[in-house]
Amino acid sequence: MEKRKDRYDTPKKKVALDVTDLNNFTYDMSRCIKCKGCYWVEHTYMPGINFSVRCPSNYWNDFDSYGAFGKMRIGLAVAEGRMEWTDKLLEIIYADPLCGACDVGCKRNLDLEIGLTLEALRIKAVKDGAGPMPAHKKIAKNIATKHNQFGSIHDNRKKWVTKDIKVAAKADTIYFAGCSASYVNQDIAKATAKVLNAAGINFMLMEDEWCCGNTLYSVGMIDEARELAKRNVEAIKKSGAKTLVTSCAECYRMFKVDYPKMLDISTDNLGFKVVHFIEVADEAIKKGSLKPNKPVDIRFTYHDSCGVSRLCDPWTPWKGERGWMGMVSPSLKRRRGTMGLYSQTRNILNAIPGAKFVEMPRTRENAFCCGAGRGTKEAFPDLANTSAKHRLDEVKHVSAEVLVSACPWCKSNFNQAIKENGDAVKVMDISELVLASLEI
Ligand code: SF4
Ligand code: SF4
Repeated sequence: MEKRKDRYDTPKKKVALDVTDLNNFTYDMSRCIKCKGCYWVEHTYMPGINFSVRCPSNYWNDFDSYGAFGKMRIGLAVAEGRMEWTDKLLEIIYADPLCGACDVGCKRNLDLEIGLTLEALRIKAVKDGAGPMPAHKKIAKNIATKHNQFGSIHDNRKKWVTKDIKVAAKADTIYFAGCSASYVNQDIAKATAKVLNAAGINFMLMEDEWCCGNTLYSVGMIDEARELAKRNVEAIKKSGAKTLVTSCAECYRMFKVDYPKMLDISTDNLGFKVVHFIEVADEAIKKGSLKPNKPVDIRFTYHDSCGVSRLCDPWTPWKGERGWMGMVSPSLKRRRGTMGLYSQTRNILNAIPGAKFVEMPRTRENAFCCGAGRGTKEAFPDLANTSAKHRLDEVKHVSAEVLVSACPWCKSNFNQAIKENGDAVKVMDISELVLASLEI
């Protein structure tokens, strides 16, 4: 009998979750059906139309090109050599905080790697000599020469450490403060350190802390970002630390996801555990080593910063084949943003005495990004401002006096928008809120 031609004879294509080659994502780009699940929050979660979108880029600019569905078509044309880089094209791909909301929305229906495709597109832009944007090149120069995002004096990096903070010379835990908390939002570094002290957790600092490289990676400068990743990982291993604590959502995502991605290893094989302040505080409160017993008389809401929510599912390298109907083998466990620090955060927030915690309509995986992250505020300040103001409307909608977040970059962006709006809302980092609830 003649052998039946069927699905098993479909030619298979070798693919990998490797962002250094945009061709790995041609299937994902070509299968976008323009359903806009990456733009709208599913109606099952939404009480109305006011807060129903999830994409800051497309909220800022209504043209389809700015949504993930537009960028999938652009990416395919770039990969196939049908489209040249222009200033407009660069604006479209960089006016985007890479918040991951589209990836989560799309994967509720389809197994397409939208977030990785957007990263791969920027890496290609840089490799082709077109990207990144001038503002990003300035940051890259600051990182190369001063080891921080702002071009501030490197020797001032630990100036936030005051006499009332106990830092161990040697400990199992290392606190990585990051650029923003070291130079701009020092109250976050101080609050984190004081809460660690209060919980009885000995911690050390890196002998010579450098930027995590978030902007470098996010704008597609992968070679520079990888070098920084190698340097930081080696330095932390050499310190002997078993656990790295961050108070920055961007640093957290970098260490937990993007370092392993660039180094082609699993998060578990990094050589140390990566945790955010949220995880440490949640565990300490559960154990009883941290006792929030001082009433904090506020009505507050919480903004799920992207890096501690939908973007932080651990990384596992994958390569294999794609065949009939796009099926891949070996099987691939998709990152769907379900492993964010959602419940840990709520455990903490509900433990603050005297405070009234109210959720906004868009929470957890569906939270609307503040718009500042991953090089966006520096290159497209108007986008960052528009997003923050839209999110602040949501804060006011639930009548919260205080907006709590878990990232210094969110705090800066919201504070600027509040100042421009003349809003009465105050912004606090979760570390500051926990500190305020301690009798120390
Ligand atoms: S949700 Fe996915 S398939 Fe639908 S339009 Fe967005 S990117 Fe395309
Ligand atoms: S990453 Fe965020 S801003 Fe960018 S296209 Fe997706 S939802 Fe929009």
